[in-house]
Amino acid sequence: MAFARLLLALLLLFAASPGQAASLRPLSVYFLDVGQGDAALVVSPTGKTVLIDAGPPEAQISLVSRVKQLVNGPLDLIILTHPHLDHLGGMSRVIQTVGVRRFMDPGFDHPSDAYRKVLDVVGQEAGQVMTPTPNAATPDAPLSIGLGEGATLSIFWPRVPQEPFLKNTRSDANSNSIVAKLTYGDTSFLFTGDAEPETEARLLRQPQDYSATVLKVAHHGGRYSSTAPFLEAVRPQAAVISCGARNDYGHPTREALDRLGQVGARVWRTDRDGEVRAVSDGERVTLTAARGSAAAPVVVRGLGARAVPPVDTPRGTKSGPVEISVEPRGPSPRGEGGRFVSLKGSKVFHREDCATLKRAKTQERTVYPDRASAMKERRPSEDCKP
Ligand SMILES: [Zn+2]
Ligand SMILES: [Zn+2]
Repeated sequence: MAFARLLLALLLLFAASPGQAASLRPLSVYFLDVGQGDAALVVSPTGKTVLIDAGPPEAQISLVSRVKQLVNGPLDLIILTHPHLDHLGGMSRVIQTVGVRRFMDPGFDHPSDAYRKVLDVVGQEAGQVMTPTPNAATPDAPLSIGLGEGATLSIFWPRVPQEPFLKNTRSDANSNSIVAKLTYGDTSFLFTGDAEPETEARLLRQPQDYSATVLKVAHHGGRYSSTAPFLEAVRPQAAVISCGARNDYGHPTREALDRLGQVGARVWRTDRDGEVRAVSDGERVTLTAARGSAAAPVVVRGLGARAVPPVDTPRGTKSGPVEISVEPRGPSPRGEGGRFVSLKGSKVFHREDCATLKRAKTQERTVYPDRASAMKERRPSEDCKP
């Protein structure tokens, strides 16, 4: 009886403790094994799904089947960090077979057929197409996307039109990769695409909390990215490198691995460890690899948000996260009397000035003189809301 009372007291104690672990549902990030390229899937505590990049073309079949295992129904958001083939190779197939509600990319123009083709498919299939434009009311704060139960995705870069794209860098497409931080309780994940040293230096000039429990290492562990000052700001407990076995680029490089070691990050590599799954309960992240010496689960503790100088926000405006229904890409003036356009094969129609149309490769389109005639055959697109 005394024992039972003690047990009860202990249970009550735990129930009343301020620790969040017991009450938070898990958030999972899968660093998918796509060979030489990037693809990571976020499944939020409420089941919102975000795919960040879609690997190289060689991996598209295995990528689609893995995503189908992990996701029911269309993805809530696809982020293409930048328009390179090792990040977009499986994207069209994922969009056409799994489906997607929203698509975000940097909006950085890149003259490749593969990228144009992705934009065509996006124009036809995605409900909403967007770039990470900072909220007009809080231009200094990153665009913030709520994924449920406090899980938030903040986009640090790029910041067009508040700031221009980086130019004349080692690779401007890489340098303008979308850099995003996913925060859940005291834990966080930083996704850097193929960010270059110029991106890292630019980010460090703006005070934000870049600290992260888990870092998706930039540019597959290339030698120039992951500079010491940037890693010092991120201070990752765990670092995941997405790269292919015996790749032609020598990824990951000794230089990047050494710098990660210097900040005490434990490294996982998809070439060696296969898919890496990271599960957060809001306090700790448990990382488990599909194979290799890292297959045993490793638990790392989130350190919470660090004190950073507050970002200047206009008084009286809210800078809380926007829920996943985010603003459409670019301005879409509500002028009356404009025409409406549908791309070949698409079920939706757009305003004639919609950015999605400008970015689509296909010139085969149907033009409607007014909204009523468009409505008879198609439904309004979610990006320009015609
Ligand atoms: Zn890459
Ligand atoms: Zn790249």
